[in-house]
Amino acid sequence: MFGVVPKVLWSRVYSSNENNLIDLTLRSLIVETEDHVILVDTGWGDKQDEKFFRHVNLHGGEGLIGGLKNRGYKPEDITDVFLTHLHADHCGGGVIRNESTKSYELTFPNATYHVSRIQWEWAVKNNVREADSFLEENILPIGQSGHLNLVDEEWELFRGFSVMMCYGHTPGLMIPVIKYKDKTLVYTGDLIPTIAHLPIIWNMSYDIESLKTIAEKEKLLNEALSGNYILVFQHDENVECCTLEMTPKGIRAKDKFEFSEIC
Ligand SMILES: [Zn+2]
Repeated sequence: MFGVVPKVLWSRVYSSNENNLIDLTLRSLIVETEDHVILVDTGWGDKQDEKFFRHVNLHGGEGLIGGLKNRGYKPEDITDVFLTHLHADHCGGGVIRNESTKSYELTFPNATYHVSRIQWEWAVKNNVREADSFLEENILPIGQSGHLNLVDEEWELFRGFSVMMCYGHTPGLMIPVIKYKDKTLVYTGDLIPTIAHLPIIWNMSYDIESLKTIAEKEKLLNEALSGNYILVFQHDENVECCTLEMTPKGIRAKDKFEFSEIC
């Protein structure tokens, strides 16, 4: 998760266990507009076998459907599923396997699934480097369902919900920038997965093109600092949100807080 950053450095800001593993969350987001209930990312899901999930050491949390239920949503309520990208820990929960018909179905039957066109075309042709992340059973059923909307460019996809397109982590990673009351929230996804990834060169080895990630983070962080945006972290086990400030070392976290303090 920290690429070439030595453990002596990252372990000061993100703790690991005796097996050298770190805890990460799969924090999805619900955004309600006047006429849409948008789910941003869907976690791993549960379609793969036990060996697969032993490898990712899935544990804890409410689960996608459980988490939605605890907040008063049924799968049928979701009008839109916004997938930042198609890596398995971001899109897997969007497709379920129906054991009686032995077929794949959308978890959210009434939803349009939004994926960037660049990411979709990249993922369906697959590549050696990301083969472990782009799983057919997570992706192809969406295309076959007729519920797929391909997003071509940066724009306001829903009222108050805009898209920033990135290419460093994987081509066509979409980062949502959301206006909520007088605030602007950025769901930083895999561009800045945890608060420990704020330094612009602290990046994941999963990134396909590190230099692009660095440039994209720098652009976003400068914009977020000047606009006083709130960052919402998808993978940080401990910190849900933060604001930013300029320090002698660069842009860093200012206030850290829980999502419930904003909404
Ligand atoms: Zn990813």
